[in-house]
Amino acid sequence: MNSSSADRMIRIDMNDQSVKIEPFPEAWELLAGRALSARILLEECDPTCNPLGPDNVFILAPGFLAGTSAPTSGRISVGAKSPLTGGIKEANAGGNSGQDLMKLGFRVVIVRGEPADSERRYAIDIDAEGVRIIPADEHRGKWNYALIDDLKETYSANASFVSIGPAGEQRLSGASVACTDKEQERHPARHAGRGGLGAVMGSKGIKYFAIDAGKLPTRKPADAKAFTAMSKQYTKEFISGPGLEPFPKWGTSVIVSEANSIDTFPYKNRTAGSSPDVETLDGMRIVESFEKRGGRMHACMTGCVVKCSNMVNDSKGNYKTSALEFETLTLLGSNCAIASWEDVADLDRLCDEIGVDTIETGAAIGIYMDSGDLEWGDAEGAKRVLREIAEGTEIGRALGNGAAATGRKQKHHRVGVLKGQAFPAWDPRPLKAAGVTYCTSAMGADHTAGLVVEPGQPIEEIAQASQEAQILNTVLDAVGFCQFLMPNIEEMSQFYSHFLGEEVTREALADQGWQCMQEEWQFNSLAGFGPEDDEMPDCMKQDAIGDAKFVWDIPQEIVKRVYERFEPRDELFQQRPA
Ligand code: SF4
Repeated sequence: MNSSSADRMIRIDMNDQSVKIEPFPEAWELLAGRALSARILLEECDPTCNPLGPDNVFILAPGFLAGTSAPTSGRISVGAKSPLTGGIKEANAGGNSGQDLMKLGFRVVIVRGEPADSERRYAIDIDAEGVRIIPADEHRGKWNYALIDDLKETYSANASFVSIGPAGEQRLSGASVACTDKEQERHPARHAGRGGLGAVMGSKGIKYFAIDAGKLPTRKPADAKAFTAMSKQYTKEFISGPGLEPFPKWGTSVIVSEANSIDTFPYKNRTAGSSPDVETLDGMRIVESFEKRGGRMHACMTGCVVKCSNMVNDSKGNYKTSALEFETLTLLGSNCAIASWEDVADLDRLCDEIGVDTIETGAAIGIYMDSGDLEWGDAEGAKRVLREIAEGTEIGRALGNGAAATGRKQKHHRVGVLKGQAFPAWDPRPLKAAGVTYCTSAMGADHTAGLVVEPGQPIEEIAQASQEAQILNTVLDAVGFCQFLMPNIEEMSQFYSHFLGEEVTREALADQGWQCMQEEWQFNSLAGFGPEDDEMPDCMKQDAIGDAKFVWDIPQEIVKRVYERFEPRDELFQQRPA
């Protein structure tokens, strides 16, 4: 790699609060983000370990192009064995922390161990001077926004932060890892949400990382001329491309009405695929509010040209939350029959404050409502029980531990999870190839593992469609591009090649994605996963949705075709993320 001689990695042992800075191994040279996280977990983490114990390994791994001038490319992967699924997990987020780590020359942070006193809190300071572990007991229990407000008093205006809220400190399985965005206020609004990785960070006693790259420049590509030309050309084409216009204008919440029309805007704990509240939850209403209240679309990280993130203000014009995404509007809105996007904005802010995944938590509240202990559509009740997560009450702990835990506590039969993780908005009953991804991905039910939005797809095509989408998403998560830039594998291989100054073919990049998936499957197999963990829950097989009465009816022989690689075809290299 171009800057390999300078590349380093950080090893932290929380047993004795020691830090080592080591050269980045040549063997991992081409790995980054999710691919690097998977390799480290397979090589260095016992798959049978207690996810909340000292043997789990917590990883921060920026994408390969983070810190370069490639557009929209600085995402950071968070990895560990998941307390939610019991398997390998990667979740990634925007914000500037990935770029800042890479500008400092740190390709990965690897944390193991746990402090002897679980009541202690620590912070990790990373800057050009080195890496320091400092006490952070005064921040114990703080919600994410209050924490960052306090840290802004102490750290320079260049610092980015990676933090957990009370849910992570309580080691709840729905806990997220918050990353600050690029705004001067540095809102802790970008979350690596899925899989409870905030709980793993909490189990290490770490309340936050502060990463200060000062005024360090972007990383220099080996073929700077070609790299810059490609970045400019790609940006120009993206900005002028008519098909990509909705995200910069409306954000992901623009998809609400389309999803509703194809029965994948789940309502009342997925008992229906469309919602009568589609108008009031439509993302268009959010953008319309900008005129009177302020608020705007913005980029969550430096160099993002898509700017899909909405910053939402309250009726007095004060900042409330960002970003109010499609998934959040679905799970905390429609899925709970909560009809007002403003209530969902409050719930989103609460989730970000407490540090829980909006998908998992929305699914959990939907189950709580479905079991009869909270009225459908009771937004104030939903806010109340969300606050109870921070308070650590019995129902708060169940909700904070996610959908499956809430289902167990409520003894409720309708629990939409796979490998212990709640389904995202995109429903597997109308979207069969997405369902195959949920069954086979080591990540469990996760649309970012390989979404295919193609209702009515012939059954003989769905396994290959799922596999190709999974390879594409794995590559994206390794390179560090945000999926909303929509690069295909061919384009990503060109960015890679220009950065390295030597050719990385599209085939090689796809092979790396496949290799990563195999390593993730291997980890899960060693952790004890078997074919039964690839089965859809009964509620997906029995409860029909939509006029077409969609159920999950795909035989397992079709599902498991994903595990044998299909001959790569041109579509694999040309397709863009859904
Ligand atoms: S496209 Fe959206 S989510 Fe992705 S980096 Fe840009 S603002 Fe963040």
